[in-house]
Amino acid sequence: MKALIIDGYVDEPACFGVPPYISPYIRYLAGAMREQGIHTQDIFYSAIDSIRLNPKDHETIIREADLVVVIAGMTVPGKYLRSTPLNLQELHSIIRTATGQVVIGGPIRLGFSSEGGKKASILSGLGNAHCCGDDVEAFVYDLLKDGMLVDTANVMERFRSVQEIGRWGKKGAFIIRQHPDYPNVMCELETYRGCGRKKHCSFCTEPFYGRPDHRPVDDVISEVQALYEEGARYFRIGRQPDLLSYQAKDKGGDLPVPNPTAIESLYRGIRSVAPDLQVLHMDNANPGTIAAFPNESRDILNTIVKYHTSGDVAAMGMESADPEVIRRNGLKVFPDEMFSAIELVNEVGAKRGASGMPELLPGLNFVHGLMGETKETFRLNYDFLKKVLDSGLLLRRINIRQVMAFEGTPMFGNDAAVAKHKKEFLRYKEKVRKEVDLPMLRKVVPAGTVLRNVLLEVNDGNTTFGRQMGSYPLLIGLPSKLETGDYLDVTVINHGFRSITAIPYPLDINNAELEFLQKVPGMGKVLAAKIFRERPYKDTQELIIKTGVDADILKYTKL
Ligand code: SF4
Repeated sequence: MKALIIDGYVDEPACFGVPPYISPYIRYLAGAMREQGIHTQDIFYSAIDSIRLNPKDHETIIREADLVVVIAGMTVPGKYLRSTPLNLQELHSIIRTATGQVVIGGPIRLGFSSEGGKKASILSGLGNAHCCGDDVEAFVYDLLKDGMLVDTANVMERFRSVQEIGRWGKKGAFIIRQHPDYPNVMCELETYRGCGRKKHCSFCTEPFYGRPDHRPVDDVISEVQALYEEGARYFRIGRQPDLLSYQAKDKGGDLPVPNPTAIESLYRGIRSVAPDLQVLHMDNANPGTIAAFPNESRDILNTIVKYHTSGDVAAMGMESADPEVIRRNGLKVFPDEMFSAIELVNEVGAKRGASGMPELLPGLNFVHGLMGETKETFRLNYDFLKKVLDSGLLLRRINIRQVMAFEGTPMFGNDAAVAKHKKEFLRYKEKVRKEVDLPMLRKVVPAGTVLRNVLLEVNDGNTTFGRQMGSYPLLIGLPSKLETGDYLDVTVINHGFRSITAIPYPLDINNAELEFLQKVPGMGKVLAAKIFRERPYKDTQELIIKTGVDADILKYTKL
């Protein structure tokens, strides 16, 4: 019995699985298969990018598998540096090639759309392949009895329980070794799913999971331990809509009351089982929780900063600064509440950490095309962002997208504003990029900032792009063709709207290319040419005597 998991990647508001990330779906599935008697050496994993690179070999693997499970779906599609999610043609080609049972799962069950602003269409023409309506890991578990397949017609759709994923998460940890980026793989961790609010935002699919289903703290810690023993060193606690509400108590209000003790136990426990982890980041935080419970939230944010690694981002869904849009769509916060949440995260997290990035900054999400949107909405959003910038507060990123309407949400059939305001949307986005993002980035990582452990990922002409491992890492371009797959420390030298340019740190004066030398902060072309001409130097004293270079410039270099 051979099983193949094909990772077509997932991108949901509360779950990310695009390389270098591996989503919990993949690990739970591997664990469920193992628990049902399939040997680990018969459970295979292929990322869709690996299939594209080597289609012939994969055709054989797909054909020989008794069970092929495809995980895919983008409910909030983004742009990815070196990965392209599975498309519908590829899905149909996998179905045609397979001779065994094909099961499809993940957010693709809600519909397929390649970009925001488009309605998600339900999959069709799947032949004998089965698309799971509920949890794919539970379906596959029930499909396998004693290592054999039963008929899909005899398997009921259902959600998995937290007890099941407690077991499967640990048993499936082995699969990360098959990820093409291993060991540079970021494990997305789940604490709970479902929305704890009593009313829900008009566009959101998270309420489809029902009331929140919190995992015990010890289960999450045991899963981290299992992953760590398999070599994982990069973790993000990203699979929940609001980390601050993990194990929160429902006391009857719209929002549950945060539980700082549970989050302290979680973070302390993770650190004790994974002492040499390299990254521990978070994802979503509901700004409504921070605004409504500032004391509990401050305690939680302090815990996060105590145990995490720097460069962390609390992604907060503001969605709109227009009071009418907020009311019509049941959104979480009004602008003054959002502002106070941004202030609190800055108070705790704005100081610079060991990675060179601030410890923890807010990231803001905006959604356009919501009900009640007018041209005035764009002005209100811009004014809010300008106010944050002018107040000296830091934001790590501003994500602006157009709504994707899913069947079953109040937005479905009510997204006429997307098409109506297309021009305003593009104009406003450009204005935010130029007038808010760029000056903000200059404050978050000023020229001369040293960023540690940048993974070089892609060569594009004479530029190499890299990122630090983490939540919403900054895109860094180095003006030279460098070996990919290596880690490098860099000095920031320039800023784009949403990316920066950097050079290696410390720059080796005797061996660096002239192009890099010219870009050392404070250097300039004339001095760089002089230094280049006179090298090699045996020590700093000789360098200063021969060229007159300022000692302050040399802090970015070595000999
Ligand atoms: S608060 Fe709104 S956006 Fe967040 S999970 Fe609940 S419904 Fe979704």
